[in-house]
Amino acid sequence: MINDPPSPDDFSFRVDAVLPNGLGRAGVIATPHGEIETPAFIVVGTKANVKAILPEQIAQLGGQAVLANAFHLYLQPGSAIIDEAGGLGAFMNWPGPTFTDSGGFQVMSLGAGFKKVLAMDVTGIQNDDVIAEGKQRQAHVDDDGVWFHSPINGDRHRFTPEVSMRVQHELGADIIFAFDELTTLMNTRGYQEASVERTQAWAKRCLVAHSELTAQRTHRPYQALFGVVQGAQYEDLRRQACRGLMATEVDGQRFDGYGIGGALEKQRLGEIVSWCTSELPQDKPRHLLGISEPDDLFAAIEAGVDTFDCVNPSRVARNAAIYTASGRFNVTTAANRRAFTPLEDGCDCYTCTHFTRAYLHHLFKAKEILAATLATIHNERFTVRLVDTIRAALVSGDFEACRTEVLGRFYGGRSAPTIRPGHDDMRRPACQGL
Ligand SMILES: [Zn+2]
Repeated sequence: MINDPPSPDDFSFRVDAVLPNGLGRAGVIATPHGEIETPAFIVVGTKANVKAILPEQIAQLGGQAVLANAFHLYLQPGSAIIDEAGGLGAFMNWPGPTFTDSGGFQVMSLGAGFKKVLAMDVTGIQNDDVIAEGKQRQAHVDDDGVWFHSPINGDRHRFTPEVSMRVQHELGADIIFAFDELTTLMNTRGYQEASVERTQAWAKRCLVAHSELTAQRTHRPYQALFGVVQGAQYEDLRRQACRGLMATEVDGQRFDGYGIGGALEKQRLGEIVSWCTSELPQDKPRHLLGISEPDDLFAAIEAGVDTFDCVNPSRVARNAAIYTASGRFNVTTAANRRAFTPLEDGCDCYTCTHFTRAYLHHLFKAKEILAATLATIHNERFTVRLVDTIRAALVSGDFEACRTEVLGRFYGGRSAPTIRPGHDDMRRPACQGL
């Protein structure tokens, strides 16, 4: 039997409510593996698992979709193995919608050794050649693609737009991303201009490869391809990048949605995202790579982002940092030794309804792995529930009141930090999924 080719009609986006600013919205993304009510926080499962928790727990805490990383899965176990297993969802036993990011970020950040400089204050410094002290540059970008060395065994690999598309089709996620070049705020304006051009050329090649693979792989559901907007902190470059992606067409097919990538200064997140969303079509979803702090979530949603992902809630959970509506605390402090209360009063998660701060304090002190599981469940639930709350407020017309109340409580009258925890001034602040 010959299957019909997968059709772009199997993927859709509908807007249900719009903020008075005309940008922020609530809607529904429909994928072959189910719907995602937006705005939505996408749980990160970098290596085809959400660290320390089961797929059933992801669903239980309200996670609607999982995002894995094409670069890591290409290196290990290899995308062909995941294809044989029936694709990412089947391999990891997650029946819901899935995303993969293109691998571009990891190829260039792990390979180039510029992680350290990404984390610096870049005020007044611009240099395309700077890399972390003592590091060899391990990735080399040219117009065709990137050479890089595997961080696992040092083997030399080549990533191109065509390789990224093949890998992401073998992985089989519902939403996949075009291969883009990572730049930093350190790069000069001239380099950013060249990079936008290069990313645009790569976007076209991705769309061509995607179209061919979709026609060949008729045994698989349709995969939606998102183009990625670059342009760093420059308004003209961001707008130019959006227009270029929107005009890109192969056999009548355009991008199914858009990712907003590249370096984003925290203080200007809403502004930079707004340049993009005011250009991009209203009927296509937008994903922002790598945010989860409450003030960033409000800024991104107000600016019209529909989905976002971040590894931060689970990463900090494994270090005993717990999110609550009144701020973040560390459960290993002495004050929690005899605290026979939930991590957060009123939280409906499995951890808070069954265990106390004192118990988690004990598990972390005793270095028991259950500590990571229980803390991850709570932090992921906190983030998912916060975004659900914002969505409900957006629909009911109470977005501003919700922001004032949530941020007032979370930051306790302090202004929100201007630097994100962990790393700042990079696309995936504290969220590289490494
Ligand atoms: Zn909880």
